[in-house]
Amino acid sequence: MALMKKAKIIIKKMTTGLVKSCKKIGNMKIETLSRIILYIALFMVVLAAGVICFYKPARDAVFSSETHTVVAVKSGDTLSKILGENGFSMRDIDIISKNLKKDADFTTLRAGRDRIDFVRSNENAPISKIVIENGPWNRIEIDCGTPDTWQCQKIEIERDTRVSYKEGEIASGSSFYLSAMDAGIPEGIILDVYDLLAFEMDFERDIRAGQKFYVLYEENFASDKKVDNGHVLAVSFDALRGNVQMYRYVKPDGKSGYYDEKGNGAIKSLKRTPINNAKVTSSFSKGRKHPVLGFTRAHKGVDFRAPTGTPIPAAGAGRVIAKSFNRGHGNFVKIRHNGTFETLYAHLSKFAKGVNVGTVVRQGQIIGYAGSTGLSTGPHLHYEVIKNGVHVNPLTVKLPAIDNLDANNKKLFMEQKAKVDATIESLKLNPKQIIRSDIDDKKINKNSK
Ligand SMILES: [Zn+2]
Repeated sequence: MALMKKAKIIIKKMTTGLVKSCKKIGNMKIETLSRIILYIALFMVVLAAGVICFYKPARDAVFSSETHTVVAVKSGDTLSKILGENGFSMRDIDIISKNLKKDADFTTLRAGRDRIDFVRSNENAPISKIVIENGPWNRIEIDCGTPDTWQCQKIEIERDTRVSYKEGEIASGSSFYLSAMDAGIPEGIILDVYDLLAFEMDFERDIRAGQKFYVLYEENFASDKKVDNGHVLAVSFDALRGNVQMYRYVKPDGKSGYYDEKGNGAIKSLKRTPINNAKVTSSFSKGRKHPVLGFTRAHKGVDFRAPTGTPIPAAGAGRVIAKSFNRGHGNFVKIRHNGTFETLYAHLSKFAKGVNVGTVVRQGQIIGYAGSTGLSTGPHLHYEVIKNGVHVNPLTVKLPAIDNLDANNKKLFMEQKAKVDATIESLKLNPKQIIRSDIDDKKINKNSK
């Protein structure tokens, strides 16, 4: 009761105070009044801003209560199995599987690679969405909101392709691989560079301390996070026979290749027949033990008719690894072209001047002259191709294609090369800047094959 009385007194005091201040307001100048209104408005704005700031974390907290149960696909897992384990009925699994095939082009999960994310709006809510993460550049979402519908949707993740420049130098006693790793070049890119330079140099024998190299390559980002590497766009290496440069170029028809700084096909190959228009007199045969004679009759190469003294050119660029004589081959030369291919030229009457073990030769350079030395019934060239240590048929073995650009493509290539060179210069000055790759080939990524 006493409290009520007190409250009544307080209310009475407040009312009289309010009436007094109202009277005061009445006496005030318009100017003062508008100033007060302005202050009140300002106060309200500050208050509103404060409220927004204060409530933002609370709003985020609502979102983050969404829970994710992520299942990594293991060997032996199937989608049915995983869905079953997470409470889906056989009937639902059947509809989901059909929809996945129909609407998202999905067939099977890959163990060790794919993940399935079961999303709930909060810890205790039913699953609202299933996300199949089946590749770095896409995911499939299954809507669990409306029962029996199970709408599936393939969502492509936008790829942001940027270019990265790395340069290095072969350290004393080091390999290209280790020096490239030291330069910060990703392993996958180093292996691509190996493949590109393999026909130009021998990574075991042509490496010297102090040789400089650089690589311009693509890095693919999704939401500012690096996902994988793209293509090598340009590479340079100070090889023994001079600086080797290669640039990637995509033709208007979408076909891509690597070309040197002049626009010539950079992927060197071997000639199947080192001497032009020569008649094959004996072809390649794998050989088998003759059932009657009991000895192996194998012909590990191809014989070409060639009068004594016919100049024999190297089938491809490489390094001479043997210049010798043996009973079978007579005088012969062996060339190593890259980590994969070697060629051998036998029955030579003589060797070309200046050709010795260790000599680096160009494609077409004369290495010797045809003859009939060794086990030979008449002058001819016996030619062998050895792929990864195994004799193969020079006439049928799959060789990298030599691809030269026509005049129009050469012009486009030179324009693109100028841009790439400018990008390299720019990244040299400021490696941190973001430059996007515009060498587009419909954004097909070799890593997501
Ligand atoms: Zn032969």
